[in-house]
Amino acid sequence: MKPGKELLFCALGGSGEIGMNVNLYGADGKWLMVDLGMTFGANEYPGTELVFADLEFIEERKKDLVGVVLTHAHEDHIGAVPYFAQELGVPLYATPFTARLVADKLQEAGLLKEVQLKVIDHLEPFQLGPFSMRYLPLAHSIAEGNALVIETPYGRVFHTGDWKLDDDPLVGVPATAAELTAIGDQGAQLIGVGRRGTGGLAGRGWPASRQACAGHDLRLQRGATADAGRSGRGDQAPALRGGALA
Ligand SMILES: [Zn+2]
Repeated sequence: MKPGKELLFCALGGSGEIGMNVNLYGADGKWLMVDLGMTFGANEYPGTELVFADLEFIEERKKDLVGVVLTHAHEDHIGAVPYFAQELGVPLYATPFTARLVADKLQEAGLLKEVQLKVIDHLEPFQLGPFSMRYLPLAHSIAEGNALVIETPYGRVFHTGDWKLDDDPLVGVPATAAELTAIGDQGAQLIGVGRRGTGGLAGRGWPASRQACAGHDLRLQRGATADAGRSGRGDQAPALRGGALA
């Protein structure tokens, strides 16, 4: 399955659960991966130490993958990088603080020369295939806790990652409610892919990821701007509720 003249979204893992965020956007024959996280299995999956999302869907289509964009440096967003980045064979993109931690991981794994890591200045828009994007700083419990605003020929996506509205954050330069409202008013199609969303898959080898990504329900609906965005909450856009990811 190749994305056509449309905007697709698929969570291979993460959204709705703590851990292993791996999200895909599709448009014009190309896929963009946002985050490559893992989770620690101690509570939900006793006996396993590390839990990864099943990446088979995208590994089979890696020639159409344009890159992996990392939102921030928490393990549930970058933890799987040393395990999968070389196999995916595309550059990683991150803001400076996140990139430094990712570089440490790659070095530890002996992959620093094998994996291309590109540092993106916070405000600098960048383009990967049909996806044009920029980071948007949000308050979070780690430096450079970013959201992403992704523009495609088929609409704009506001991908939050983990975040909160905080007027007085310990770290980070937060977006204001007004900035977020402006994005919503400009017609962002998806608000709040992140910890508080619905759906997502857990564990290794979960066949549902293939079903979720191969279905037709992941098309984002035009005009489905979420009320959640306007009020600044991190909930999932209605377009995704009841779809393949619910
Ligand atoms: Zn986080």
